[in-house]
Amino acid sequence: DKAYMSSNQLYALVENLLSVSRIERGNVKLTLEIIEWAGFVSEIVENFKDFSKNNNITISFVRPTFTSKIKADKVMVSEVVSNLIDNAVKYTNPGGNIMVFLEDSDKFIVTHIKDTGAGISRESIPHLFTKFYRVGGVQEGSHGTGLGLYISKEIVNMHGGEIWVESELGVGSVFSFSLPKHNG
Ligand code: ATP
Ligand code: MG
Repeated sequence: DKAYMSSNQLYALVENLLSVSRIERGNVKLTLEIIEWAGFVSEIVENFKDFSKNNNITISFVRPTFTSKIKADKVMVSEVVSNLIDNAVKYTNPGGNIMVFLEDSDKFIVTHIKDTGAGISRESIPHLFTKFYRVGGVQEGSHGTGLGLYISKEIVNMHGGEIWVESELGVGSVFSFSLPKHNG
């Protein structure tokens, strides 16, 4: 089991380092497609149900009442959603819950991932989206490279969107990002 876990972590690290190097060489080509975003996100949430159940955390997706078509690179944006949900599960104590919901905002669809987790201090927030940054203290036993949010930010920016967080220590966090709508 330990060997399996370590090799998984090593694999994730190598994948992340490769993503960073591609991004920094400016060597990323987006393959834009029209995506029915609610359905797309809902599937990713489904895929996380086992992982979150193992951590005794409930995760739910709120279906929007509006249509949510965006234009984006499927592989890349699914990495953003997965990174944010993975964090929400990793940094939330057992018994907590995670809610994923969408907001219609003019030219953008905003995706929110809200958790009842550890929260992040005001001082740490400016560093969150930088390379290799991990908040100390609150995460004994959790593993990570500190690259997930950096990569997510780069991907969202490449699409012309933004990513941000609102958080309160001990209460939880809401990570949000916007992606341009496809009209028509
Ligand atoms: P990786 O994603 O590369 O495996 P990681 O999860 O440590 O590693 P990031 O996803 O970039 O790296 O997150 C950076 C740090 O921000 C985390 O180490 C954690 O301290 C903090 N963090 C991220 N998401 C949350 C969250 N939902 N609640 C509390 N802290 C968070
Ligand atoms: Mg992460």
